[in-house]
Amino acid sequence: MRYFFKEGADLAAGKVIALEPADQKHAHRVLRLRKGDTVVIADGRNSALQGIVEEIGPEKGLVRLTGPPLPAARSPLRLVLMQGLARGEKMDLIIRQAVELGVQQIIPVITGRSIPRFRRSQEEGRAERWRKLVLAAAKQCRRASLAKVSPILEFAEALELLRGRMAIVPWEGEKGLSLEQFLKRPPQEKEAVFLFIGPEGGFSPPEIAALTAAGAGTVHLGPRILRTETAAAAAIALVQAAWGDLGGSGK
Ligand code: SAH
Repeated sequence: MRYFFKEGADLAAGKVIALEPADQKHAHRVLRLRKGDTVVIADGRNSALQGIVEEIGPEKGLVRLTGPPLPAARSPLRLVLMQGLARGEKMDLIIRQAVELGVQQIIPVITGRSIPRFRRSQEEGRAERWRKLVLAAAKQCRRASLAKVSPILEFAEALELLRGRMAIVPWEGEKGLSLEQFLKRPPQEKEAVFLFIGPEGGFSPPEIAALTAAGAGTVHLGPRILRTETAAAAAIALVQAAWGDLGGSGK
């Protein structure tokens, strides 16, 4: 069943929804949907309803919602990925996987060792590209809520954001606490859990000192050093399995 987003729409059985122009063209030309085909419309806020194509053509795409509501697939854990800004294609992969693994928000952060040179002038294009990636990944994995990708923060801003919050910082230099041990305690913070992954070059010692001083917990992910994109996916998966809904029915 094809899955489409109509962001912010108020979904209810009986309503007729116009597909977004890009979706309508895609549905007509590529997917070759026909009148009477069953599709799903999601609102981006965690509701999804089944519907029937009522009209489809080069100019129009209308779906009549029939219900019932479908499982919305939102994790009960509000997990925020803070990601040290990595090279473009790595960021793309991280964003896609984070969406599939059920992250609610992604905050890219420029750290001391972030390699991509950051230009404000390119920010808009990048944000648009990431928004499209989030949409495509959400469609693919059938999650009715869209993850938010925040504007890029400086390290100092990220530090202030997670001060006093539940924040986990995977750091290959951590010799004591593992993520597995960390996750044995129940999450204290009902609001959100922050997970901060370093860029390709990792965090610098002053960054780790500042994060620890702000109350974040450093953990190791095991004996191998993972690439940033692997570390992000692995750490999200472990946190979601322990405190969210990955690998099971959710808590
Ligand atoms: N350049 C560093 C590795 C950075 S890996 C080095 O070679 O030593 C990129 C990020 O992935 C790190 O900042 C950390 O957040 C995470 N990471 C990768 N492997 C890890 C591990 N074994 N334990 C904890 N964090 C890890």
